[in-house]
Amino acid sequence: MPAITNHLPTAELQALDAAHHMHPFTTNKDLADKGARIITRAKGVYLHDSEGNEILDGMAGLWCVNIGYGREEMAEVAARQMRELPFYNTFFMTTHVPAIALAQKIAELAPGDLNQVFFAGSGSEANDTNIRMVRTYWAMKGKPTKSIIISRKNAYHGSSVGSGSLGGMTPMHEQGGLPIPDIHHINQPNWWAEGGGMDPDAFGLARAQELEQAILEHGEDRIAAFIAEPIQGAGGVIIPPATYWPEIQRICDKYEILLIADEVICGFGRTGNWFGSQTLGIKPHIMTIAKGLSSGYQPIGGSVVCDEVAEVIGSGEFNHGYTYSGHPVASAVALENLRILQEEHVLDHVRDVAGPALHEMWHGLSDHPLVGETTIVGMMGSLALTPHKESRAKFAMEAGTAGFMCRERCFANNLVMRHVYDRMVISPPLIINPDEIKEFGRRARKALDECHAQLKEQDMLKPAA
Ligand SMILES: *Cc1c(COP(=O)(O)O)cnc(C)c1O
Repeated sequence: MPAITNHLPTAELQALDAAHHMHPFTTNKDLADKGARIITRAKGVYLHDSEGNEILDGMAGLWCVNIGYGREEMAEVAARQMRELPFYNTFFMTTHVPAIALAQKIAELAPGDLNQVFFAGSGSEANDTNIRMVRTYWAMKGKPTKSIIISRKNAYHGSSVGSGSLGGMTPMHEQGGLPIPDIHHINQPNWWAEGGGMDPDAFGLARAQELEQAILEHGEDRIAAFIAEPIQGAGGVIIPPATYWPEIQRICDKYEILLIADEVICGFGRTGNWFGSQTLGIKPHIMTIAKGLSSGYQPIGGSVVCDEVAEVIGSGEFNHGYTYSGHPVASAVALENLRILQEEHVLDHVRDVAGPALHEMWHGLSDHPLVGETTIVGMMGSLALTPHKESRAKFAMEAGTAGFMCRERCFANNLVMRHVYDRMVISPPLIINPDEIKEFGRRARKALDECHAQLKEQDMLKPAA
């Protein structure tokens, strides 16, 4: 019998949770007062909580459940693999079939000469691998001074010391002594919030050219790599102006530096192609993968590495690895996830059915009085809440107050949308169907209406000076 059941009353589970469970990115004291929402099961795009609510998951968990919840095949593959070989390591000149098969499959799907995979247990771990890999690459090529990695403000690359340093989240850097040395952050291509009077294309170009300025400022002989999400996810689904990535690519081609595309969210169909790099026309040397790799059914991540970098790294011992690198159960489950994505033509569904319906629904919200811009690529979108559309004004109150209020109204209407400050973000399971998207739109509009009414009532619709 399982040790934990769903059959305790909600209040009792909440009290136990508050007594023993420290939540990530949470003020635990406030959560303890309020009580956590308890998710008990899920199927397709719907979550069920301990109070009997059926909640439409507009975030695919945390941007990861691309094939939707409750796929029997995934459970069967996991059980079979656990019976056959629940664990073995890949350290000491050993390997196993799930890791071999998954690496081969990823190499087949990945563009260009990205043919080698270094496995990790998560996106954070994979980005830690990347830090060590790019610096080791240059050291092995006799250029140990090339150690600076350029990243961007408001980027998200994970929460470990290394990956959190790569990320550009100020609240994270304020705790625990981050960033580590030799990480440099340039500005993000967030036109809505930071573009001022510039037109988006000129702004995109200017922000990309900050990369070149940083390279020249530090010296090419100091720079190891540039890392970026093709589309920033946790930063608020910031879709860069069309001029941005071509200019970044030009700069990366011109100077001797490596380009790392963090595909943890954008990978595995989220943007309509297998990888965001394909959607945005990027040619990376390394891609970070996690999340959609297993649709979240098992924790697994990795670095997909081009032939040249893999060859140099492979010419000596790379003193790096995780107990669970290429974990057999996680690998088998990821492989089954990729089989489902491929054999059920989920990317075609995104391109022909779910994508167009989601875009129509999302842009349909742009007439709402509280909504500034709506933006979306593939199955990841965001909208800006604003007290004044024309001037793209921020609210006079603390950033995130309106967003939090909107998220609460979403939950009250059985919809999961996340807020990043005053942007609402969505990233539903890729298998969502048009009826479910209509329902998504109805609940989103109702939540926006209620949020708008609440802001008005409390006299909070004032633009910042
Ligand atoms: C979530 C995320 C990570 C970190 O992945 P974890 O599995 O949470 O460690 C890294 N990069 C991006 C772009 C992410 O969205």
